[in-house]
Amino acid sequence: MLIDTYGRVATDLRVSLTDRCNLRCTYCMPEEGLQWLTKSDLLSDDETVRLIRLAVTRLGITEIRFTGGEPLLRPGLVGIVERCAALEPRPRMSLTTNGIGLKRTAAALRAAGLDRVNVSLDTLRPDAFKTLTRRDRHADVLDGLRAAHEAGLTPVKVNTVLMPGLNGDEAPDLLAWAVEHGYELRFIEQMPLDAQHGWKRDGMITAGDILTSLRTRFTLTEEDGAARGSAPAERWLVDGGPHRVGVIASVTRPFCGACDRTRLTADGQVRNCLFAQEETDLRGALRSDAPDEEIARLWKLAMWGKKAGSGLDDPAFLQPDRPMSAIGG
Ligand code: SAM
Ligand code: SF4
Repeated sequence: MLIDTYGRVATDLRVSLTDRCNLRCTYCMPEEGLQWLTKSDLLSDDETVRLIRLAVTRLGITEIRFTGGEPLLRPGLVGIVERCAALEPRPRMSLTTNGIGLKRTAAALRAAGLDRVNVSLDTLRPDAFKTLTRRDRHADVLDGLRAAHEAGLTPVKVNTVLMPGLNGDEAPDLLAWAVEHGYELRFIEQMPLDAQHGWKRDGMITAGDILTSLRTRFTLTEEDGAARGSAPAERWLVDGGPHRVGVIASVTRPFCGACDRTRLTADGQVRNCLFAQEETDLRGALRSDAPDEEIARLWKLAMWGKKAGSGLDDPAFLQPDRPMSAIGG
């Protein structure tokens, strides 16, 4: 098991498949100037699958989330999913994507064994999308969402980050749209994980702000804590249900005590937390022919040292060097 000194057990593995992206969301990346990993930095498909196999068969991982950067840019994605679906015990598998290209690949991903997708969409307004992501691809995301739903990658969840002055007033419209289309909407508080280190606590829209705004149009009933389990999102029934809306309040209502995540970067580093300052190099071990036992030992050791919390409330908090796009969100 991947257990830490506080008794938390990691069963959910986030795998970043690339640090590259075809959007440039302002809360994530600068327009230009990021240093990308090179091809030889990246784990190969075989290396990635070997680590996932080891995590599933030896370390108690039951849930895999593929992410990035933009995971649909990874040429071997469908093959990786297919090979992971053949593992025993079979892990549940989902993908977090900006949705661009999903129209083309949703059916193949479903056939390969992917269970679900989270698609990120921050706005219903094409002009605001262009400002937020610096790319004119709003229609492609909507097409991708539809294709995911039709392919059965359900429940389709939509991830939304609200930014003041851009889409900060859109929460009720987004929820009405999600209810209409059968998508489960989850708002994510903006975190200090942007490559530009531009995040400011007093410039962010909080979970409290989001709920106040939603309640101007909807009746929200909180699900009880048991239903949440280790899920990062707190969820509310919308107008009595069955539709739900989630809020991931990593900054103002952190959920570190129930965290069950471990993370693998595209270049083979284990991180025990999004906000960790340290990483453990598994790629080096893989490439020096270490046996599975040794790699499993390194992974367990990496998790054993997980801190109690993200440290966001500590005045001495230091943002990690790697941005969200390189860690895997
Ligand atoms: N490119 C894919 C996407 O956008 O869904 C996957 C990677 S992205 C880093 C994963 C999620 O992290 C997205 O939902 C994105 O909105 C969110 N994200 C990125 N930067 C963030 C930040 N600074 N604070 C909160 N969420 C962020
Ligand atoms: Fe790309 Fe996702 Fe970051 Fe946006 S949030 S720039 S889509 S990695």
